[in-house]
Amino acid sequence: MNGHDCFPIGFLSVIKSPMAEAHHGTASSDATMSVGSQLCTQCGLCCTGVIHDHAALKPDEIEVFRALGMEVRLGEKPNFPLPCPQLKGTSCGIYRDRPHACAHYRCELLRGVEAGTVDPADALAKVREALRLYQSVLSLLPAGMTMPQARALPRSLKEAPSGIGGPGYPLVVLQVLALTRYIDRHFRHSDEGPLLREEVLTMGEPETPL
Ligand code: SF4
Ligand code: SF4
Repeated sequence: MNGHDCFPIGFLSVIKSPMAEAHHGTASSDATMSVGSQLCTQCGLCCTGVIHDHAALKPDEIEVFRALGMEVRLGEKPNFPLPCPQLKGTSCGIYRDRPHACAHYRCELLRGVEAGTVDPADALAKVREALRLYQSVLSLLPAGMTMPQARALPRSLKEAPSGIGGPGYPLVVLQVLALTRYIDRHFRHSDEGPLLREEVLTMGEPETPL
């Protein structure tokens, strides 16, 4: 997205920043890009479903999005699911037509960079670590499984789904938890709340009490 939830839908639409026009596009050169834009163009994580499950759409964006062949969920708060098929590498494939929510979204890390409270080099290191964790998770998931789906996998090893069961399942669960915890710590806003609730940190009752 560059804008999304398990976002509280609608939340993104109220975030504004002078950096919005540069957010997540294929900007020209480092010399003309803001430090925040340089970060986003190397990231793209908010479009992948790693930070949110979906992104909000304004009513007048619905038909435009449908015309692009995008899935749209109607209802009180229209939205589209993430990961977004318009993400190309780490850039938005419909940058000039991206939804309002995408254009105005800033993760916690980007907010810190823009506010001057997070060092840009530290922020980039965190983006790279998050991308590394994300790729690690993807390498373990069945083809086509998304991060929102992976977050919904049973945490109990006794309930391992047939498609990814077996001895590799504990590693899948641990990697998903590690990535989600990292995202909660560095990318989710405090007012959004964590993706990882305390209860999902348990791996179920051990077969034999320790
Ligand atoms: S429309 Fe563009 S900015 Fe929005 S989620 Fe899709 S790839 Fe990201
Ligand atoms: S730095 Fe934050 S706002 Fe920018 S692309 Fe990455 S997750 Fe999205």
